[in-house]
Amino acid sequence: MEGPKMSVKNHKFEADTGKILDIVINSLYSQKEIFIRELISNASDALDKRRYLSSTDANVSSTDASKIIISSNKKDKTLTISDNGVGLDEEEMIEALGTIARSGTKDFIEKLNSSKDKEGSKIALIGKFGVGFYSAFMVSENVTVTSRKAGTDDAFEWKSDGHTGYDISRSNKDTAGTSITLNLKKEDKEFLDEVRISHLVKKYSDHISYPIEWLESDTVSRVLNSATAIWTKSPKEIKEEDYKSFYNQIGGSFDEPFMTLHNKTEGVIDFTQLLFIPSSPPLDLFDPERKSKLKLYINRVFITDDCDDLVPKWLRFIKGIVDTPDVDLNVSREMLQKNPAVAKIRKSIIRKVLSELKKKLEKNKEEFDKFWLNFGRVIKEGMYEDSENRGKIVEICRFHSSRENSHLSLQDYINGMLEGQDQIYYLSAETLAKAETSPHLEGFKSKGLDVLLLTDPIDEFWIPIMSEYNGKKFTSISRGGADLDKFGSIDKKEKKEVDAGKFEKLIEKIGHHLEGKISKVRLSKTLTSSPSCLVADEDGMDIQMEKMMMSHNPEFKGSPRILEINPNHRLIKSLNSIIKKGDSSIAEDVSMLLFDQAQILEGKTPEELITFSQRLTRVMQSCLTSKV
Ligand code: ADP
Ligand code: MG
Repeated sequence: MEGPKMSVKNHKFEADTGKILDIVINSLYSQKEIFIRELISNASDALDKRRYLSSTDANVSSTDASKIIISSNKKDKTLTISDNGVGLDEEEMIEALGTIARSGTKDFIEKLNSSKDKEGSKIALIGKFGVGFYSAFMVSENVTVTSRKAGTDDAFEWKSDGHTGYDISRSNKDTAGTSITLNLKKEDKEFLDEVRISHLVKKYSDHISYPIEWLESDTVSRVLNSATAIWTKSPKEIKEEDYKSFYNQIGGSFDEPFMTLHNKTEGVIDFTQLLFIPSSPPLDLFDPERKSKLKLYINRVFITDDCDDLVPKWLRFIKGIVDTPDVDLNVSREMLQKNPAVAKIRKSIIRKVLSELKKKLEKNKEEFDKFWLNFGRVIKEGMYEDSENRGKIVEICRFHSSRENSHLSLQDYINGMLEGQDQIYYLSAETLAKAETSPHLEGFKSKGLDVLLLTDPIDEFWIPIMSEYNGKKFTSISRGGADLDKFGSIDKKEKKEVDAGKFEKLIEKIGHHLEGKISKVRLSKTLTSSPSCLVADEDGMDIQMEKMMMSHNPEFKGSPRILEINPNHRLIKSLNSIIKKGDSSIAEDVSMLLFDQAQILEGKTPEELITFSQRLTRVMQSCLTSKV
């Protein structure tokens, strides 16, 4: 028979894993020491899982003394971090240590590769990603993980130099749990030192709820941390840096929390929440698979970080913990979803988060808007999905105002309405730049009317549902029909009344040339500097919405637009007199170009590019001919 160490299986890292390792090792260089935080955090997670399993799975025995032990061997230059947690079997080693299967990995690599920036911003990026276990390779020649899964008798050893792959072989271990041994690089021998390690444990892992011990000899050990769950302390006793380090540890991040909410709720359901809103968004914020990372504890026993019902999707960026005595420890994770206590906690979390955000907004708009830039898009999903909370969510929503060129709330907008204005005007576009230069905006600008510029796809969805705010209807200015005549012009140059009758022939002519492409031609009441634009019917689909439908379904054909022409524009005036004189040779080309140009401003490409360019050439040519 083969001895236990005889069969070694070689595995190659997946392509991405190797790349990430390289990047991590090189970029995080100045932050090497965080490897200790990451390994301790993993050990603590493993202890959490073991505790949970021993209460639900008869095969898994509990350990009476969950702990993390750190030791070093100066002669061999090794540092070992051990836990008696849940352990890993062979398959799990391949799965958990051999691949970086996180969502957002590809994005992350691309961003990192393309960022020529300073070290600082790279670190911020890596912080969003979280390097976890792989941080060990920053300080190690090679890493050996020896583990025995709780409830089994077999132990395995995983070993790698962090470059191309890893080996797995059978091993021996008397008890369940994991031991990670780092063969430190020469330049990193400082991490063999008890004083150094004890300092780092205090700095990063003091609040880990299990004792972290330094093994001084085979029999003597010293506890390095205070080993109480931070959320069980009173907020008064907790320093800001304690919160930050706890936040960084649970999220594997480097940033500061934007907001920390720590409180105890007593009532029908008792629970403690320690929640954080990050100051920078995670890379996978818009990954459809992304779930909230809130950890649920029952009386300090970790239950799950995968309980969808604890927070709504539109708050999925919140990190932290919830601890309650009011859920039965034996409840299966599936049943958690329907648990009434969980539903109550969720309600209370939403209420608390919204009210704290509102306070923040009232206190400091600039600060709040930093948060809004990161997470506003996610919050607005709630306006669409969460009818129960819509009324509260809308109060903290911020919108870009075309008049102020800054963010404001809907109430601010209403307060700034002009006399006689009874609608909330908005314009949707892909980007702010596109919105700001849109011809639709011209007339509103000239009258001093404010328009909300919306650039998030979700806006197309919640606005139709909400349809009005405080009695003021939302009105898309890309849908024609706004009558701006009742508002005075701010530049004082009141335009003379246009005699619509004088343009009848022109309108008919253009309509004829554009037959089938548009639904009709009419004089614009909103254009000031552009000659033409396309608008949707008053009860038609908003242009931006239509574009989105098209991108999802190439078969989708929008409804034809109305072409609005500007009777005060020189081009339109000239065309009008030419046509009146009966000279219509150029009318077709100009009509088509007016249409194409309006389409281009909507971000669309003219359908027949060759014809478009021939036409443009002809018109340019004729303009030059008249000059030579
Ligand atoms: P994360 O902790 O965010 O899942 P890591 O890279 O830190 O990512 O760890 C990867 C995985 O390796 C963990 O999810 C876990 O399954 C496994 N793992 C790492 N360390 C341990 C340990 N001490 N005991 C058991 N499993 C571990
Ligand atoms: Mg981890």
